[in-house]
Amino acid sequence: MTEDSGSQLGDFIKGRMLFIEDYCLNHGLNFKDTIYSIEEEMMKKADSAEKKEFLKNRVFHGVILSTSILPNWVDKAFLEAMVAVLKGPGAPLYTTTSRISCISFEAGRFNAKRQADTIFKILYQNKKPADWLKTGFPGLYRKCYGDLAGSNLKMTERNPGNWEIVTDNTHLEKASRIDCSTVIGYLFGSLEKLGAKHVVINHSSCKAEAPVGQKLCVFEITFDS
Ligand SMILES: [Zn+2]
Repeated sequence: MTEDSGSQLGDFIKGRMLFIEDYCLNHGLNFKDTIYSIEEEMMKKADSAEKKEFLKNRVFHGVILSTSILPNWVDKAFLEAMVAVLKGPGAPLYTTTSRISCISFEAGRFNAKRQADTIFKILYQNKKPADWLKTGFPGLYRKCYGDLAGSNLKMTERNPGNWEIVTDNTHLEKASRIDCSTVIGYLFGSLEKLGAKHVVINHSSCKAEAPVGQKLCVFEITFDS
């Protein structure tokens, strides 16, 4: 997969919308007004007529299917706008540990739980946390990040309940600390969903935004299963 071809992100974007709906419900906010503010914020930040057109006609006023292929810039722009609208300007866009939450982390966590019950149910059903890390997560990762990143993904079980994951973001347009925060949230939500206890995920080294060289990111996971 090349960096401009986009990924099968339709269901992830649908998940962002549902996350916002859930967030509004829990925080006494009006969903329609909030979505409108997020759309305005994204339109303001979009740096080309093409992007504005795409947001208007596809993301906010079109039909997104779970299988829709969307360009990779959409999710990052969406998350940034969500933070600005839900948390106010200057709120943290990313985290490096599951111990400190942020919007991108919560959005990833929410989506993991939702997808575990719907589109990716088969990857979660009757799986122990370690099984899911071994086979479920790599399949999901490949779907979302493409074949090249998928084959460079390294999953190491050091001890029971102690894993190291290394992602290679070198050729990924969407690589960013925000995106890494959604990965932390996704792993966290999935492991919670699978019944793991005391889950801690630390993103111990992040090269997602490194200007040169290999963009390797290291995630350390511990849990009791
Ligand atoms: Zn990272």
